[in-house]
Amino acid sequence: MNNYIYQIKKQKEQMTTTLPFISKNKNYVEMKAVTWQKDSHGLFDYETKSLSVKKHRVEGSCKVCREDNEIVIQEGKNKDEAHMALTSIQAQGDQYFIQPNQSSTENDNYLIVRSLKNADGVQKGYTLQEGDLLKLGRVEYHVIEIRDAKGQIRSVKDVFQSEAKLAPPLEGGVAKQCKICLLEEETPEDPFITPCKCNGSCAYVHFNCLKHWLDSRGYKKESGNTISYRWKKLECEVCQELLPQQIRFKGKVLDLASLERPNQPYIILENTQISEKDKKAQRGIYLIKGTAEDQVKLGRGHQCEIRISDISVSRLHAFIKYEKGNFVIVDNNSKFGTLVRLSTPYLICMDKIAIQVGRTVLTFVMKSFSSLNGNTHAGLAALHNGEQGRIMFQTGFQAGSNKTSSINNNQKKHDKHTGQ
Ligand SMILES: [Zn+2]
Ligand SMILES: [Zn+2]
Repeated sequence: MNNYIYQIKKQKEQMTTTLPFISKNKNYVEMKAVTWQKDSHGLFDYETKSLSVKKHRVEGSCKVCREDNEIVIQEGKNKDEAHMALTSIQAQGDQYFIQPNQSSTENDNYLIVRSLKNADGVQKGYTLQEGDLLKLGRVEYHVIEIRDAKGQIRSVKDVFQSEAKLAPPLEGGVAKQCKICLLEEETPEDPFITPCKCNGSCAYVHFNCLKHWLDSRGYKKESGNTISYRWKKLECEVCQELLPQQIRFKGKVLDLASLERPNQPYIILENTQISEKDKKAQRGIYLIKGTAEDQVKLGRGHQCEIRISDISVSRLHAFIKYEKGNFVIVDNNSKFGTLVRLSTPYLICMDKIAIQVGRTVLTFVMKSFSSLNGNTHAGLAALHNGEQGRIMFQTGFQAGSNKTSSINNNQKKHDKHTGQ
């Protein structure tokens, strides 16, 4: 009899150790961390086998840190300054969010496009939004403008606009003179601007003169439904200052780059790269028209409409397609991946998603504790009401013992799964 009571007591103790985490949160997050053992420009090689892999189970808010090739979880408020957090996980009620690291660009969090899959396991792609920052290998593209099917244009000009100073009057009655056409008149339509660091009589240039000069430095190429504009050497020839793309004048934004916008849905991508040869900035603007038939190819190869000459970019790296009124990017199993920078918290769902932080890939999936239980229905009922659940456990020894053993069995099953 004593032995029997002892058994009940022991079982109840076991229950109290498992119960609190059930009533606290009915879901948890399974996180798989894969780190490339090589450190190369913050890239992750999706084809390598030289990896460190570890699985973690997350049951509350925490920070995810990397020490050499090891990923460690820091729970609660125990902040260790020696660890630089790759990302954070925030628990809110029954939901978990990826809280992207904003403090260092080295640890920017990027959504991995190929991890977004539909129920059949097929890549569904990522729907592009204005303001998105894409990364193909180590080459970045900004989505600066989208015209949707209704004809509405959404753009993120303020992000990329470097506002040139309007020319102040010269002292001592000296007339301003345009450094390109050498004329002294200016009009409200064609004002003098000072777009760079040159000063004195060299400071001034007509807006239109600068625009024509830039046009002569750029070239336009049309291929399929993509129009590419590229400018080489965007710096002022005298002071080497990078020239702006847009000028704000009397509340109006004037484009220095001449773009022909079609009367149909389109998306505009921009990229600024520093050429490895001469260290000069090159700007590319790519306008893709939304037509359902064609998809635009991005990559290093000749067949691509958007060609990227960088060794970290695969020959056929990604596609952009126009689907149900949206522009969607799909990764083509590229070596270094197609990524979208996360700037706001991202909800972790029952469908797997993955982010890349430098040379580490973190895969997240939310799981329910109730699915650990053999009797899902009873488990859910208990979980929906913590109080009720506890009463149920306490009143019937039989029910309690079943519950405990089934949780333990499932945890064992789960642990086994984790080890694989
Ligand atoms: Zn001029
Ligand atoms: Zn200058």
